[in-house]
Formats: sequence, structure tokens, C-alpha cells
Amino acid sequence: MRTLCATLMLTTCLGTAAQAATVYPLDRATILAGSPFDLKVEFDGAVKAADVMVTINGQPAAKVLGKDVQFVEKEAGTEASAVLIRAATLAKPGSYTLTASAGADTKSVTWDVYGTPATAKAKNVIFFLGDGLSVAHRTGARLMSKGMTEGKANGRLNMDDLDHMAFIGTSATNAVATDSANTMSAYMTGHKTAVNALGVYADRTEDSLDDPRVETIAEALRRTTRKSIGVVAMSELEDATPAAVFSHTRKRADKAKITEMIFDLKPEVLLGGGSAFFLPKSVPGSKRKDDKDYIAAFKDAGYTLATSASELEAAKGTNSGKILGLFHTGNMDTYLDRVQLKKGTVGKFPDQPGLVEMTTVALGQLAKNPDGFFLMVEGSSIDKMAHPMDWERSMVETIEFDQAIGVARDFVKTHPDTLIVVTGDHTHGVSIIGTIDDNKPGPEMRDKIGTYADAGFPNYTDENKDGYPDRVDVSRRLAIFSSNFPDYYETFQPKLDGPFVPAVQNEKKEYVANEAYKSVPGAVLRIGNLPRSDDTAVHAVDDVVLQATGPSAEGFKGYMEESDVYRVLAEALALAPVKK
Ligand SMILES: [Zn+2]
Repeated sequence: MRTLCATLMLTTCLGTAAQAATVYPLDRATILAGSPFDLKVEFDGAVKAADVMVTINGQPAAKVLGKDVQFVEKEAGTEASAVLIRAATLAKPGSYTLTASAGADTKSVTWDVYGTPATAKAKNVIFFLGDGLSVAHRTGARLMSKGMTEGKANGRLNMDDLDHMAFIGTSATNAVATDSANTMSAYMTGHKTAVNALGVYADRTEDSLDDPRVETIAEALRRTTRKSIGVVAMSELEDATPAAVFSHTRKRADKAKITEMIFDLKPEVLLGGGSAFFLPKSVPGSKRKDDKDYIAAFKDAGYTLATSASELEAAKGTNSGKILGLFHTGNMDTYLDRVQLKKGTVGKFPDQPGLVEMTTVALGQLAKNPDGFFLMVEGSSIDKMAHPMDWERSMVETIEFDQAIGVARDFVKTHPDTLIVVTGDHTHGVSIIGTIDDNKPGPEMRDKIGTYADAGFPNYTDENKDGYPDRVDVSRRLAIFSSNFPDYYETFQPKLDGPFVPAVQNEKKEYVANEAYKSVPGAVLRIGNLPRSDDTAVHAVDDVVLQATGPSAEGFKGYMEESDVYRVLAEALALAPVKK
């Protein structure tokens, strides 16, 4: 920057030099009082230790934070210097301006350190995260589950009636677009970060585990309370969303490491998929590259192990209060595959519980703690089925997610000191535009799409009143499309033979339409509008809708950043000032 400076006009030069370094936490960070965080200053070039000045509100940073400053003359893989203070804390709420300089290389950031009321308003928090939960998912789930007569829904979803609501911005620190790591991390730490990062600011060095850390909600709960912690997901437990509750890595793909982080924190209830990273490499199905056996380690730590729905049912009565349920080596199957179609990997894992059963068991266990609990429940496959544009699976997953919310709403009838939050981490470019009616005349499937008045109403039925459509392949079904897609064959049909795989890789490593669907009657080739490196539809930048009920729910309103949501959780649980 400074070499460039010399060739520029002086005014431009000053402007550039004044913002040369990068400081983590970033400018406008909101920090929970007393919560540990790593402070890092990345200078643009090599600087001398003697020239470095880091002040907070005019005082030496080391003095304000009571911590030693590490100076790194040349960071690995760079020609530049850095300053690092690990596990810093700011105990007093207020505005803090940090200025870092080394000669002309200088940068100032301002942080808002906030406290919370001394007493918690909520004893328990249940945080429902519908991965990829978009507005169309809510509409589709309501239409398929409840039906509609003369333009009015014939019923409400459990999430529909939650009395507080906010629009949430999901963007990452490095892009408007976003993934399930940085988004959930913002909810679970109060700090926004870069795509793929969990519980850290993404620094410039290659090592994914050395990045400046921020405290996760699980760590804050361990530090300040005796509450139990539960995580329930339909995905691998090491997947981005559950991992964000307790992990610190620049790369969400560090799943073996994330398993170690789960073990370090030891949430009392862990239910989901992903056993492949718990098993030592010698066991078939393991994805570890070492001999560590985390199933044995959890058992030694007093956990009851469940690997099927029936074992989970038996584990309910356990007195240890600690359950590790691992029902799949990878991601668990969808409701449609588990219960109705018996496709996907159900042949290999025939007795998987669903989100409703897992949420019920988790609440039963966690409620035994007189100090209360924090439970995160993820409807993981709403997203995992939205990516391949398998809309029937994605919508039915939303219904199952909503039924799990119903379990929580029943729980709060007897536990009113519980805050329920329901939100998505990001949206998909998905929309419902009408219906597809097989009986509509026309030679092509597109002729059968009804828009405006032609759409009428879909004819899903729910004879057994379980809240799920009896079948998804009805003659007049919802017409749901994605705004973005790879090359694929649009079949206009539910995928009854297993989850949709729209695109496959060719010899040039580009994604092309999966020819397996070419022979479906009426299928048409759609040329993608995404780069050929994308195999599925991608996340949208659109806001997500958050709903909440219970103590502190009034804190959710208007437009909020995902990082702002953490502050409401912290206030509900009184995570600062520290009281023990
Ligand atoms: Zn996704």
C-alpha cells in the first residue's frame, strides 16, 4: 500500500494509508461484556515491533485488556506483520475505539461492548434453525399440511402463531452471499464472519485453526451458568449449523477437528447424524484419519449411546442426563424417505428417528436440570433438499420441522420461562408460482402449469390427520421453482425414487444435466444460469424471517443482523455481567 502511495497524489495517499491494517474484531463489532475474544491486527506489510502502537480509548491495549501482546514479525505465508492478543476480555459495557499503527500504517475500529440485566428473564432457550428456511417454505408447508379454501388457509403452522417477528440480514463479512457456517456462527457468537468460518474471524494465514476466536453461546453458558446444552440436527453433528454452537475454525470442512471440539465442550444431549467422524479409521464407514474413538470417549464420559430410534426410545429413561445419539454415518434421511417412500439411504439405516422424536427426547432430558438449558434444533434437510431443487422433500421437511416446534410449544405450556426462537440461517431462491395440474390439456408439461386464476388450489389430502400430505404426487400440486440452477432436466414431477440429483460432473469437471432424468415423460432440458462449477441451486441473499415467543421475545423486531440476535439471547439468559 505504501509503495503504491508514493506514486499517488498526497490526499489519496493519506486516505489509503489511514485504512491500511485490518483489525479483528471488525469495526462496529458488538461484544458481550466479559466474553473472551482474540484481538488481531494484520498490518499491510512488514513493520518493526518498536513502531507498533495499539491503543484502546487512548490507553495501551495490553493495559486495558490485561494481556500480553504477541508481535509476529512475518506471518506464515506472508511478508507482513501482525499483533495478537488471545482471550482478551472487556468487562465494562461501553464504546471502545482501538487504534493500531506502525508508522503510516494505521487503522481505527470502534466496538460496542454490551452488558445484560443481572437476572435472566428466560430459564430455557430453544433455538429452532430451519436451514435455508425461506418464505416459500413456510407457504408451501402450510398449503401442503393444512390446505386452503377460498383463499384462506385451513389452519396454521406452529411457527405461524409465534408473536414476535423480525427480518434478519444474513450476509457474510466478505460477501453479500452466505453459507450455513458464517450465518449460524453470527447467531451463536454475536459476531459476523466470513463464508465457511465458525466461531472465528477469518484471518489471512492458511492455518484454519489459528484464526482469532470469539466465544460461542455454548462456551458463554459454560462460563456463566450451570445450564445444560443440547444439539439436535438431521445433518451430521459436525455440519456447519450444529458445529456453530461450539466450534472455532476457518473451515467448516474440518469435521474431524469439530468432533474433538464437541467432545471438549460435551453438550449433554447430542442427537443427529455424522458418526463417521466419531469412529476411528479402522472401523468401516469412518472418515477419521486417526485412531481416536469418540464414541468410546463419550461413553467413558458417562453418555448413553443410541444408534437407532428404538435405542433412543430406551435411552429416554437414562439417569445419566447425557445422551449421544448417532443415527447415520452421514446426514439423516428426509421424512418423505424415512416414512413414506423408503428411499434414500433408508435401506442401510432403516430405524432413524425424526426431528419430532429427537426434540421430544432432548427436551425430556434437558428439563431435568433445575438450572435450565439451551437447546438448538436444526431442520437441516430443508436446505439439503432445496439445493437439488427437490421441492417436495424440502417442503415436507419444513412440515416436520414445524411439528418439532409444536413439541416445544407444548413444553412451554408447563415451562413458560422458556424463550422459543424460530428462524432460518439464509434463504434459497425458491418461489411458489401456482400449480401443476396433470389434467390440464396440452402436449408439454409447461402447458400444465396454472398461473393466476388458472392455478386454482392444490389437491393434497391428509386423511389420517397427521399433518403430512398422504402423498406428494397428487394430480394438482404446487408449482415450485428456483431462480437459479445448473443445467438440469425439469420433470415437473415429485422425485419418488429418491432425492433429486439435478447435475453430474463430466470429464472436464463441469456440472451438466443428469441424463438419468431425460427419460421421465415430459422432462425438458433447462440450461443453467449458474457457473458450470455449481452442481445445485445456491443460497439467496434475501432476508430470512425470525419468529419468537416467550421471555425477551419482544427484543426481536424490525430489521436485525444475525449478530444482533445473539444479544437478545444473551439478555434473555443474562450472560453478562457474570454471576455465579
Ligand atoms: Zn445450503
